[in-house]
Amino acid sequence: MEDLGARLSGIIGQRVCILGAGWAGMAAAVELADAGAQVAVFESAHTLGGRARAIDYRGLTLDNGAHILVGAYRQTLALMRKMGVSEDGGDVARGPLDLNFPGSFRLRTPRLPRPLHLAAGLLLCRGLPFAQRLAAVRFMRAAQAMHFTLQQDTSVSALLERFEQGEQARRFLWEPLCIAALNTRPHEASAQVFLNVLRDSLDGARRDSELVLPRRDLSRLFPLPAADFVGARGGRVVAGCEVNAVHARESGFEIEHAHGSERCDAVVCALPPYRVAGVLATLPAMQPIARRIDALEHEPITCVYLQYRPDVRLPQSMVGLEGALAQWAFDRGRLAGQSGLICAVVSARGAHEQLSHEQLAAQVAEELAARFAGVNAPHWSKVIAEKRATFSCRPNLERPDQRTPIPGLVLAGDYTASPYPGTLEAAVRSGVRCARLLIEGSHVPV
Ligand SMILES: Cc1cc2nc3c(=O)[nH]c(=O)nc-3n(C[C@H](O)[C@H](O)[C@H](O)COP(=O)(O)OP(=O)(O)OC[C@H]3O[C@@H](n4cnc5c(N)ncnc54)[C@H](O)[C@@H]3O)c2cc1C
Repeated sequence: MEDLGARLSGIIGQRVCILGAGWAGMAAAVELADAGAQVAVFESAHTLGGRARAIDYRGLTLDNGAHILVGAYRQTLALMRKMGVSEDGGDVARGPLDLNFPGSFRLRTPRLPRPLHLAAGLLLCRGLPFAQRLAAVRFMRAAQAMHFTLQQDTSVSALLERFEQGEQARRFLWEPLCIAALNTRPHEASAQVFLNVLRDSLDGARRDSELVLPRRDLSRLFPLPAADFVGARGGRVVAGCEVNAVHARESGFEIEHAHGSERCDAVVCALPPYRVAGVLATLPAMQPIARRIDALEHEPITCVYLQYRPDVRLPQSMVGLEGALAQWAFDRGRLAGQSGLICAVVSARGAHEQLSHEQLAAQVAEELAARFAGVNAPHWSKVIAEKRATFSCRPNLERPDQRTPIPGLVLAGDYTASPYPGTLEAAVRSGVRCARLLIEGSHVPV
């Protein structure tokens, strides 16, 4: 206890600059402000949240992209609770895993304890021949037996082949899960990271496999209440203030930004991976790491919003779309009270990248009309394409640690070392770890 007290008192009053107010940066800001640091967050955009943020359009508040959270996002959900976000209906819709491709496939995990919920869910799922359901159960049991760890990473496609997963099981279950979680196509995606996701969600406690869908916009779900929390502890979150460079000074750092400069004792660099090298170019010791970060490849996610008559609804809040460009469609009426508004998500690279926004919206509207009665003739559409939504989660990827060779400088972001792919949970965990490294004084050197 004494040790912890002494370590905590080390951070009290220390000036920490955080670059970027995405979920990683804001997670670090909350933890550091709570521990007594003097926190200043600089964000280039006018909206907080980075790749998970609100967007205003036609008087509506949309998200830059529909986000799916799962019960296994423990640190994200814990921080959201700490910010006063409620999980019992108001702010998020939380329910058992329910993968529904209407008319083709449905997997629902029944209210049974682990591991029965998963075995029963797989054995009772609709749309797979019995032999494929058994093979899916065998695959999960084999994964458990090897503690979800591969000796040699490979692609998700190769893993599914090795465990003899049938055509429908791949098409409706494993491949959609892979694309949703890793945002990388199965033949290119890391089997090890996929297994990590299966271990913590499907094979976790029943609550871990639950789907958690936002009911309010993504900025208000965490980044904005986090900024209030930081403000209430004497910190600052400065939006619309781009950081241009970080200079190492005899003691501490100097941050050069759009409004001038700022001296501080420590820096959490929570920029997107493609901005790190530019901002840290002034620090020679960071160059080998910055080059590795720059070499990461990225995958897009495109969201197609379609506004229909207010009475138009999908069969449930989230449905799978088989054989379509978009993989999932979300009913914003059911989720966020935006009647008749549907958001379809196209993840990872693919043929859709060749289409104009108008062509893509028209094709997605056709796909919805072909699958759901009455879902036709949208009044308007809005396409939001995030070209670098996440890093491409390939086998054997070396992700940089949160610690760096420079004492007092740590790296946060979904691309940093984590068992998880580029997700909110990877971002939040990295931010929390950076804060702890600084609080405990164990951030030096790798
Ligand atoms: C469309 C879409 C859908 C997604 N769906 C899901 C999902 O369903 N589930 C899930 O878990 N994850 C999903 N993700 C991934 C998730 O959003 C990201 O992993 C996460 O938001 C990354 O957070 P971050 O804080 O690491 O980075 P970022 O969000 O990129 O934060 C970095 C911040 O730094 C700011 N910045 C950049 N340059 C500067 C500068 N020079 N000075 C100051 N600030 C700067 C940026 O504006 C940004 O706010 C999705 C992502 C997208 C884009």
